[in-house]
Amino acid sequence: MKPAAFDYFRPSSLEEALQQLAACGDRAKVIAGGQSLGPMLNMRLATPSDLIDLNDLTELAYIRDLGDTLEIGALTRHDQIAESKLVQARCPLLAQAAKTIGHYAIRQRGTIGGSLAHADPVAQLPLIATTLEAKIEIVSRGGQRSLPASAFFQSVMTTALAPDEIIRCVHFPKVAVNEGTSFQLFNRRHGDYAIVAVAATVALDGERVSCVRVGLSGVSAVPLACDDILRPFSGRVVNAAWATEVALAVRAAVSPEDDQRIAAVYRKELTQTLVERALVRALSRAKG
Ligand SMILES: Cc1cc2nc3c(=O)[nH]c(=O)nc-3n(C[C@H](O)[C@H](O)[C@H](O)COP(=O)(O)OP(=O)(O)OC[C@H]3O[C@@H](n4cnc5c(N)ncnc54)[C@H](O)[C@@H]3O)c2cc1C
Repeated sequence: MKPAAFDYFRPSSLEEALQQLAACGDRAKVIAGGQSLGPMLNMRLATPSDLIDLNDLTELAYIRDLGDTLEIGALTRHDQIAESKLVQARCPLLAQAAKTIGHYAIRQRGTIGGSLAHADPVAQLPLIATTLEAKIEIVSRGGQRSLPASAFFQSVMTTALAPDEIIRCVHFPKVAVNEGTSFQLFNRRHGDYAIVAVAATVALDGERVSCVRVGLSGVSAVPLACDDILRPFSGRVVNAAWATEVALAVRAAVSPEDDQRIAAVYRKELTQTLVERALVRALSRAKG
């Protein structure tokens, strides 16, 4: 199929894009990498009246070190994130996850802003943003606001974005000294979306766990940060059973649904296995 007719605009600045978006009304859409919206247009799952192409907004394609955080512009491609030495060193979880998105060609076009706005429940970047509680900066003609990932993702492919808003950039916290991270994903074929994916960070204070974070995708409508489940496991001295106990607790707490492809019990099994694997690797990295 081919897309329904739409008017096409290619603004040369963010200001112009925001003006255009406000002028076009609720049925307009912005397009970035087109790796999700393109197929939706072709299948007529999206039929916008106007399409506003962000690809000339080079001001939105950057990775900056701001001290405690990395700021990543919305138009930064998945491959630029995966290959950035700064991201690999300062936010390795993000680089590890970006490297596993789809295939090479998709990573050359797809953008972080597009991935977060699309909000696929098993996509890699929403999972990392949720696990690390990234801050998403959003702009419109009326001003700007910043939302933590937990408030941004609302349901399957549904976010807090209003029709006249554009994601400008995302702030990710940098990895701490004595902190290790690991990203684990299970899919049937290389490049497929995950069935279940897990992101984990473990920070050590000597032999004691000072902070542990686990994020899951594939078990709920939005990526899940397991902060409440993990509270009893923080502050403990790590022994051989620690990662296994955490993984069992996470498994017990998740309630994925059966679907036509995958049984819920299989997703629970995968969750336990991947959480344990991620924690063991993160711990070993934290120890250096
Ligand atoms: C074959 C295939 C395999 C894939 N596999 C994976 C995978 O394994 N994991 C994964 O995570 N993704 C996967 N993707 C999706 C890919 O990551 C997309 O790049 C991503 O979902 C959307 O980014 P985009 O820049 O292409 O956005 P677009 O497709 O251009 O837009 C997607 C949505 O975001 C909105 N949008 C875009 N930019 C902004 C912005 N700055 N502010 C507000 N709204 C915005 C658009 O209006 C649209 O609603 C795959 C895609 C394909 C085609």
